[in-house]
Amino acid sequence: MLVLKFGGTSLGNAERIKNVAEIVRTHKNCVVVCSAMAGVTNALEIVNSCWEQDDHSGALENLDIIQNMFDALCRELFYEQGTINENCMEAMEMFAPVRKLLESPFNIQLTGKILSLGELVTSRIINNYLLSTGTDSSYVNALKLIQLNEQEEPDLNDIAQKIEETGSFREPGIYITQGFICTDLHGNVTNLKRGGSDYTATLLGAALNASLIEIWTDIDGLHNNDPRYVENTTPIRDLSFAEASELAYFGAKILHPSCVWPAREQNIPIQLKNTLDPDASGTRIQTGFNSNGVKAIAAKDNITVLRITSGRMFNAYGFLHKLFQVFDEFKIPVDVVTTSEVSVSVTIEHTHSLAALVSRLQSLGRVSVENDRSIICVVGNIQDHLAEIMQAVKQFKTDMVSLGASSNNVTLVVPGNQKVEALQALHNLVSLHTVNQQELWIQLQA
Ligand code: ADP
Ligand code: ASP
Ligand code: MG
Repeated sequence: MLVLKFGGTSLGNAERIKNVAEIVRTHKNCVVVCSAMAGVTNALEIVNSCWEQDDHSGALENLDIIQNMFDALCRELFYEQGTINENCMEAMEMFAPVRKLLESPFNIQLTGKILSLGELVTSRIINNYLLSTGTDSSYVNALKLIQLNEQEEPDLNDIAQKIEETGSFREPGIYITQGFICTDLHGNVTNLKRGGSDYTATLLGAALNASLIEIWTDIDGLHNNDPRYVENTTPIRDLSFAEASELAYFGAKILHPSCVWPAREQNIPIQLKNTLDPDASGTRIQTGFNSNGVKAIAAKDNITVLRITSGRMFNAYGFLHKLFQVFDEFKIPVDVVTTSEVSVSVTIEHTHSLAALVSRLQSLGRVSVENDRSIICVVGNIQDHLAEIMQAVKQFKTDMVSLGASSNNVTLVVPGNQKVEALQALHNLVSLHTVNQQELWIQLQA
C-alpha cells in the first residue's frame, strides 16, 4: 500500500486536479490524502471569524465566494464528461449544513466543522472526477479514522483499530480521503492544525504499514534554506528522519511540524515530490543518512524568549522541575532551553496567555520577556563547523544558542527583524558544504 498526499496548490484548479488524477491512475493500491483546494481553508477561517463576531452577512458572503469557486471548478472538470449537473449538485449540497450552522449563535466547538468543509468538498470532487473518467476509486471519511486522545494528540494504535473496525482499505484499490480533519475526544470535528494534511498522510501510512508515503507539493523537494526568503536554495536529495523532524518542527513549511514521527516510528520512507515537475527526484526522508557539514536551515517566527533569574537556583535542586510544572499547567510547549547557574532562558511560541504565565513564573524569580524573536535551526553534521556557524551570525544579536541536545543541529534565537539576513548569512555556509558533499558523493561513487 502506498499513501499519496496532495497539497492545496497541487489541487488549485481544474488543470492541476486532472494532473493529480493522472498521477493517481498510475497506481492500483493507494490511499490518496487530499488537502482543500488552495486558499479555501484561509477563506473558511474568515467565514468562521465573521460568525464569531456575529457578522452573519459577512460569513455568508464569504461562504458564497468559496461555493462559487467550487462550482466553477466542477463546471470545468465535468464539462467533457457531460456530468456537470449531478457532480456540481452533490458538491454544492455539502454547503447546506454549514449555511444552516451559521444561522445559530457562535459556538467554538463547531468551528472545526466549518474548517473541515474544504477538505470534504475537494476530496469528494476528486473522487467523482476519477469515477467519471473511468478510474474506480472509493471515498473514505477520515473523520471515522482519526480521533484525538486526552492529550489532544492522534494515536497510531487507535487509528489502526478504527481502520480495522470500519473495514476501510481492506480490498486493494484507490481510496480518496481527506487530510487535516479529525475528531476530538468527544467526537466533535476538529483538525490537526494548519498544514495538517501531511500529518494525516504519515499517520495513515504508519497505521497501514505502507511501503512509502509520497507528499506531492508545488516545489521539487525540501530545500536547503527557506526559498521564500533566500535566493539560490536547492533541493536536498536525502534526509534522515531526525534531520527532517528538526527542519519541519523549526519552520520548513513544506512539512507539518509533527508529521515525521509516525513514519519514523514505523520506518516508512517519505518521498517529497513536485506535482508541477513529477520527474524531478525530490527529497527522500528515511533512516540514518549520514551528512557532512551544514545541510539545511529553517526558521520559525513569533517566538517569545522568557528569562527567569533566581538566586534560589544556585546550587539547589528541584528548581527546573518547578519551572517546567508551570508550563505544564498552562499546556505551553517549550522549544529551546539554555541555563546558567542563576538563570534559565526558554522559548515559547507567541501566546495569548503570556501575562498570566509571566505572573505565575514571577513566583519563582525575576522574569524578563522578549517578543518577536525567530528560532533558526541549522541541521547537518555540524560538530566540526560550530566556529564557522558562529562566525556567520556574529553581526546579529543572538539571544540564545543551543547545541548538543541532538547531534545533528544547533539552534539560534535572533530578533525576528534580523531573521532574513541571518538566513542569508548562513546560506553561504550551506552552499559551500553542499558543494563539498557533492564532491564526497562523486568520490564515493568513483
Ligand atoms: P502544500 O499546499 O502542498 O501543503 P505548502 O505551501 O504547505 O504546500 O508547502 C510548500 C511550500 O513550502 C513551498 O512552496 C515553499 O514556499 C515553502 N517552503 C518553506 N521552507 C521550505 C523548504 N525548506 N523547502 C521547500 N519548501 C519550503
Ligand atoms: N487545508 C489545510 C490548511 O490549509 C490543511 C493542509 O493544507 O494541509 O492548513
Ligand atoms: Mg502544506
